[in-house]
Amino acid sequence: MTILDGKNTALLIQDEIAQEVQTRIQAGKKKPHLAAILVGNDTPSQTYVNGKVEACKRVGFDSTLIHLDENISEENLLLEIQKLNENPQIDGFIVQLPLPKYINVDNVIKHIHPDKDVDGFHPENVGKMNKNQPCYISATPLGILKLLEKYEIQTSGKHCVVVGRSQIVGSPMSILMARNEKIGNCTVTLCHSKTPNLAEFTMQADILVVAIGIPNLITKDMVKEGAIVIDVGINRVEDATKKQGFRLVGDVDYTETAPKCSFITPVPGGVGPMTITALLYNTLLACKWHKD
Ligand code: NDP
Repeated sequence: MTILDGKNTALLIQDEIAQEVQTRIQAGKKKPHLAAILVGNDTPSQTYVNGKVEACKRVGFDSTLIHLDENISEENLLLEIQKLNENPQIDGFIVQLPLPKYINVDNVIKHIHPDKDVDGFHPENVGKMNKNQPCYISATPLGILKLLEKYEIQTSGKHCVVVGRSQIVGSPMSILMARNEKIGNCTVTLCHSKTPNLAEFTMQADILVVAIGIPNLITKDMVKEGAIVIDVGINRVEDATKKQGFRLVGDVDYTETAPKCSFITPVPGGVGPMTITALLYNTLLACKWHKD
């Protein structure tokens, strides 16, 4: 069994990005600049955004964090987005999700200029991804593709089962794994909460991608011997032995399942760091596509 070490792989890719930033600066070109909008005081969201800002520093990007009040109106949020759309210094930006319930997320995403939509959530980018055209691929699926690539995992002809059909992870992942690309060419099954007998499908997976948000839902008896398992889930479970009072676990019961797998991502330290790195990659692309 090999652990797919997202933490180290992310650092390696970040080093490559940092090198490219230095080369750009030496050539008198623009430094990439990522902005993030954070609404309210949700603790996990703050942690994720801070991680993104830290990663920007590490690779030599400029970054801007716009922290907005939790009661901001949708109209005022759209005005902030408009400012970023029009600011030539900002190459790409994200609106950290989730947003407060009264805000229409689809409407917010629609107002991000597709050229600056480095999260790859805008319908134009989603459409281009479906048509296999140059676009920003959403960060978590892109991070997973890069992890599979770095570990030289052969995907062609394999059966990939994706559990979870969210717009940001499961659905794009299922499309990407079916594309006629080096990391792709899988036969794909997409499962969700209405799938009866989930184990019947997960047992068939050569590559199992799980993005559900339920701690340890996938147990060892649901995974085929030798499977490649990508656990996207990040769940907080109470743990009195930890200073914060919780620990992070995935959607897959790692301890029991890992010995059966050929490759598996840990949680934390698997998909999470790759997601941040994919966002940096997209921001560098934005700078190259629209400023060079
Ligand atoms: P969503 O809540 O948007 O989607 C969850 C999906 O899981 C839905 O499609 C749902 O089905 C499906 N589902 C729920 N229960 C079951 C079940 N019992 N059996 C099968 N399918 C089920 O979640 P996200 O995709 O946004 O996130 C999933 C997890 O990944 C979370 O833990 C999140 O924190 C984590 N995450 C991690 C990231 C990283 O960088 N590592 C990035 C993004 C998310 P239905 O559609 O029918 O409701």
